[in-house]
Amino acid sequence: MSLLFELPEVPAVPVLGEEARYPVRRIFCVGRNYAAHARELGNAVDREAPIWFTKAPAALCHSGTAIAYPPGTQDCHYEMELVVAIGGHGFELAAEQAMDLVYGYACGLDMTRRDLQNAAKAKGYPWDTGKDFENGAVIGPITRADAFGQPGEQRISLAKNGETKQEAPLSEMIWSLPELIADLSRLYHLAPGDLIYTGTPAGVGPVAPGDRLEGRVEGLEPVVLAIDPA
Ligand code: MN
Repeated sequence: MSLLFELPEVPAVPVLGEEARYPVRRIFCVGRNYAAHARELGNAVDREAPIWFTKAPAALCHSGTAIAYPPGTQDCHYEMELVVAIGGHGFELAAEQAMDLVYGYACGLDMTRRDLQNAAKAKGYPWDTGKDFENGAVIGPITRADAFGQPGEQRISLAKNGETKQEAPLSEMIWSLPELIADLSRLYHLAPGDLIYTGTPAGVGPVAPGDRLEGRVEGLEPVVLAIDPA
């Protein structure tokens, strides 16, 4: 089959200790998965169902990049998140089977044009322009699941210009990783290349030109992002 034009190569994430990279097929994200963060945005905390949204693979941005301040916003926020990289096929999984699908973990930033998201939310419109934009899905190198171990009391944190802004144990998630993966597998046929951004703890806030973000999860490589000076 011939194509009319070439597309950019599929984005792919480095894996610790591997020559080959992890190619990205889809990016799923969950909202309001830490109670204190849901409250800080004025949302009810409930366990009705996880709130899913997506970003296009074209939104992927590698750790260590310096980006321009994103267009179309006056209030771009960082959200530090644990990212799960799926490595197997699964559909309608039980929570007990869900962790078998995990290839590895990475630190990620769910960058958010909060002003656009809030305006959309207020009108009951989709969040897409607030969430899915170029360089909006930042990711550090992937650590394989067997090297990381079981997610639990490891701390997730974010520092802006050296000052800690977010910090919580992964165990504060409202929906656990097995529950998230099982729920998502009822909506999509999960497959290798699917990333899941698992929500952010309290302490989200704005970035400005010249800022440097460094996000960490104990046991993983950090994610670093710089915003170009004005
Ligand atoms: Mn988020």
